Formats: sequence, structure tokens, C-alpha cells
Amino acid sequence: MNIPKSHPRFVSLSIREKIVRGYNDGLVAKEGLLAHGRGEAFDYLVGEKTSKTAKAAIKAAAAKLLSAQNPVISVNGNVATLCPKEIVQLAKATQAKIEVNLFYYDEVRKKKIEKSLKKAGAKQVLGTNPRSYRKIGNLDSPRRIVDKDGIFAADVVLVPLEDGDRTEALQKMGKTVITFDLNPLSRTAQKADITIVDNIIRGMKLLVSACKKPKSTKTNFNNKRALSSAVSEIKNNLRRRGSLA
Ligand code: ATP
Ligand code: MG
Repeated sequence: MNIPKSHPRFVSLSIREKIVRGYNDGLVAKEGLLAHGRGEAFDYLVGEKTSKTAKAAIKAAAAKLLSAQNPVISVNGNVATLCPKEIVQLAKATQAKIEVNLFYYDEVRKKKIEKSLKKAGAKQVLGTNPRSYRKIGNLDSPRRIVDKDGIFAADVVLVPLEDGDRTEALQKMGKTVITFDLNPLSRTAQKADITIVDNIIRGMKLLVSACKKPKSTKTNFNNKRALSSAVSEIKNNLRRRGSLA
């Protein structure tokens, strides 16, 4: 679909088109389209801009990634479709590994995602070699698989747009979990150590910049407090938009 630039919802519709293209190219799962719709709804509620709270979370995430011993960026179909270049830039800036890790397990889709990341400049993409597979937590079998040289060995993992169960399993393994999730009430948002409540399309660019010019590796970030501010920001936005004045 050709969306005219003058359309009042041009940005949102263009992102949606990107996801649909990702689906047609075999990168995004059908369920990924639903997850995107959930994200769109929450983006409306946060006002489709990066909030103060999200900026603070991005700063904390940058500090955590830069001080990690073995950081890993977990990539699913939606993430690979929405910001492939930024993933590569972030991996470079933080010396992180990139791993394809899917909730809806599919070897063919994994390979396609690997190929698209390499096209975006990734040198190495983990998660597609069955000989390196290891299991995590007590999740049902396909959802458990991670790469022994990637997430399995990581101390800090960035798992954007992730499912709650898997976030919890990673935490139980003692890993520090950072996520992007527009829904501050999702289980992932609630379980992670650092939740960036922002659209990954906007937030990933800011995270890359923050990692390129870090200010301090010490932040006193509290995720519970940040989530509570994120909910307040939504409430304030709704109050503003919903008032008659
Ligand atoms: P949970 O399992 O954590 O309770 P869920 O089952 O509602 O959440 P999942 O499909 O497991 O959702 O995870 C996807 C999450 O990613 C959702 O919370 C959704 O709002 C969020 N999301 C979708 N698209 C984006 C985006 N572009 N940027 C940031 N977050 C997004
Ligand atoms: Mg879920």
C-alpha cells in the first residue's frame, strides 16, 4: 500500500506496512502481527513519543549493556523487521552478540532472520546452529532453546518484545534482563530489570546513541518505580486528551 505523506497517521501506518512486508517475506509470524497491534494500541496511549521515563530507562540500559561481560541481543521476527540496522549498530557499540530467538519456533524463519540481519551488516548471528542449542527453565520444549555461546552464557540480555514466561525463565538463570515493551502492564515489563516503555522504532535509535556517548555507568534505576511513572504518564496523557477544555 502506498501511504500518502499527508495522512495524519503516516508514521504509524508506515510502521504497520513494514511489519506486513516482514510477514510477507517470512520473517514475522502471524502472531507477530497481533503483538504489533497490541503495541500500536499502547503507543496511542503513551502519545506516540518517547517519554521522560523511557529516556531514563534507556540511559540505565546503556550503562548496563556497556558494563556487561557478555551482553546478548535477542532478536525475533518483529524486531528484525522493525530495526535491523540499529541492532547491528547496538551490537557494535556494546560488543554484544546477536542471537535469533523465536517464541514461535521455526527453523526456516530463523534462517531468514539471520540472512536479513547479515544483510543489515551483522558479522555473526547466533541461534541457528542446532549443535549449539541449550535449554532454559521449565518451559515447553521449543520455547526453551537458546544458543550456548549466546543467551545461555550471557550476563545481560536485551530481549525486546518478549513473552513474560521466557523473561521469567531468563531471570531465574540469574541474567539481567532489559526489554522494550510498550505495555507497562505486561508480564515481561513487570519481570524485567529494565523496561523501556517505548516503541522500539524510536527507542532503539536512542539506545544506540546513548551507548555511543555514555555519560556514566552508574544509575540508580528502579524498574518498579519506572513502571509506575509510565502508567502515570499514560493517565496524564489520557486526562489531557479526554478533557473537554
Ligand atoms: P506478556 O507475555 O509479557 O504478558 P503479551 O502476551 O501481551 O505479554 P507478547 O506477544 O508476549 O505480549 O509480547 C509482545 C509485547 O511487545 C507486547 O506487550 C506488546 O505491547 C509489545 N510490543 C509490540 N510491538 C512493539 C513495538 N513496536 N515496540 C515496543 N513494544 C511493542
Ligand atoms: Mg506473552
